Amino acid sequence: MNNKIRKFFEGRYGPDLLGRDLIFLALFISILNLFVKSKIVSWIPFVISLIVILRLISKNFPKRYNENRIYALWRQRMKTNTTDRLKFKYFRCKTCKQRVRVPRGKGKVTITCPKCRSKFDGKS
Ligand SMILES: [Zn+2]
Repeated sequence: MNNKIRKFFEGRYGPDLLGRDLIFLALFISILNLFVKSKIVSWIPFVISLIVILRLISKNFPKRYNENRIYALWRQRMKTNTTDRLKFKYFRCKTCKQRVRVPRGKGKVTITCPKCRSKFDGKS
């Protein structure tokens, strides 16, 4: 029996970051639906689980690997953006439209545009 299971999973893609996060997403939607109680929403975790299982047993390694790679890159970018937004506030120069980054929590500041050297006030 154990050998049969091992044989079945031989050459299959198996679990990855995307699969794991999709399970968390399905779980989150399931919990959310305890409050929303929508029939359509209740199908979403089922569909996600099905996708996860199909990816798990897939034999198309390059495709699954690439999906996971794209997801991992997107995830990293989102993570970086979130932490960046917590530390910095973004302003747009009124003269040249240059984007200017200022550390948060400094109160009212006079910002000098690094591109055109014009000054404007902002609240960080
Ligand atoms: Zn400027």
